[in-house]
Amino acid sequence: PVAEGRSERRPTGRPTPERAARRNAWYRQLHWQIALGIAGGIALGAALGPQARALHPIGDLFLRLLRMVIVPLIFSSLVVGTAGLGDAARVGRLGAKALAYYVATSAAAIAVGLAAVNAARPGAGIHLPLPAPAALPQAPPGLADMLLQIVPENPLAAMAQGDVLPVIFFALLVGLFANRLDRRLREALVGVLQAAFEVTMGITSFVIRLAPAGIFALVAVLVGTTGFEVFRPLLRYVLTVAFALAVHALVTLPVILRFAARLSPYRYGRAVAPALATAFSTASSSATLPVTLECVEKHAGVPNRIGSLVLPLGATINMDGTALYECVAAIFIAQVYGIALTPAQQLAIFLAALLASIGAAGIPMAGLVMMGIVLRAAGLPLEGVGLIVAVDRVLDMCRTAVNVWSDTVGAAVVARWEGELIRPAGGGDR
Ligand code: ASP
Repeated sequence: PVAEGRSERRPTGRPTPERAARRNAWYRQLHWQIALGIAGGIALGAALGPQARALHPIGDLFLRLLRMVIVPLIFSSLVVGTAGLGDAARVGRLGAKALAYYVATSAAAIAVGLAAVNAARPGAGIHLPLPAPAALPQAPPGLADMLLQIVPENPLAAMAQGDVLPVIFFALLVGLFANRLDRRLREALVGVLQAAFEVTMGITSFVIRLAPAGIFALVAVLVGTTGFEVFRPLLRYVLTVAFALAVHALVTLPVILRFAARLSPYRYGRAVAPALATAFSTASSSATLPVTLECVEKHAGVPNRIGSLVLPLGATINMDGTALYECVAAIFIAQVYGIALTPAQQLAIFLAALLASIGAAGIPMAGLVMMGIVLRAAGLPLEGVGLIVAVDRVLDMCRTAVNVWSDTVGAAVVARWEGELIRPAGGGDR
């Protein structure tokens, strides 16, 4: 497996048991290195305080390298994947299955959030300075606009700006129409893009090896600059969101993985762990996409035909963690303002949270911006967003990890629905 870094290289001398043991030692495994990076980042950030900002360039370098590969990776992988699928009907069927999974799991996540926030009532009886009606979140675009923006006026501009959905749209069309070329031309085009895809994946593997250092720096800067004080008044709220996210990630999604994809959640989770840790530390599903693709296709063994379509789409529109968060945050705000919500308002929050999660971009704080949709739908004060800004980053990290976890589970489920065999690196699929 590529993400286990150097362990793949063949030793030069004769293999001895000691050498093999050293090669498989825990400290050589990427997920342990990343876990150490997170723990070290927390410790150093707490010790240095705001001075931890000095590590910013390292974290930024890691983020830039990841962003660098997103567009070439999505484009090459989608064209090759779609051209391999054959016809538009098959692509459509695959897309429909993915959408069904996205909506069902996001709705399940919101239901968990709704239950948790109504049971824990984290906003009841707390006294926070209520923010003045200033600094309203930007008005979100309407549905028709959102749909129209999927069609790029200029594909190169969309690529240059890193607009994922328009790039997906264009790549799908290129892949579909490549199928209509005569064999010689099709093979020429797909061959070049296949080579581009392999090269980009190679770069991605290299970037992933830097993940422990990048994640270490990102976490240290965050802990050093935010500190732990801001959490005190909002602790119940933070814990409610975290608990509900944990239920979705550790119960709902594993059950789906086990029964719909017939995979061991533990093994699958291990295979995609680097993607989850990257999501956690970058708070961006889009920036994590290269790692997600690599983990799901190379480690978890989901075929590229499925992963190349389901993962970029999922990184942009499937956000279970965000959906759950929108719902809990809106109801928390209502509780702080002492507004009793009617069942109709709760239903409005449910639906708006679903839409907001679909519309949120895979970038940090997108969910906070989308709170405007949810608060407006339920007739709640928009400035309530000011109550939760201080702790948004940490919750953003947690919800992004859940978003990416759901994307990876979705890829396995859709692959199984398509009758594909999923072969995790290292043996059978149970
Ligand atoms: N940061 C999240 C993501 O990239 C979106 C959000 O803010 O909820 O998946």
